[in-house]
Amino acid sequence: MGRKRAGFADLQTTRLAFSQNEARCPTCHRRVGDSDEPKLIHTFGTAEPTLATLTCQRCRTTLTIRFVEPE
Ligand SMILES: [Zn+2]
Repeated sequence: MGRKRAGFADLQTTRLAFSQNEARCPTCHRRVGDSDEPKLIHTFGTAEPTLATLTCQRCRTTLTIRFVEPE
């Protein structure tokens, strides 16, 4: 394997945790959240966004965030 390249990763978190930057990039473990200016994706018929994408500012991984219900 060669040098690590910026890639893609999926992440599941709650909307609340994400808004408080408690989610972490699965690649470099940097905290990510609303302050990273995510693109929020609203699914038709839902009030809250269900998906978001953002680029980790440390490792440049493109993250796809899926918002899950709090347990
Ligand atoms: Zn990262």
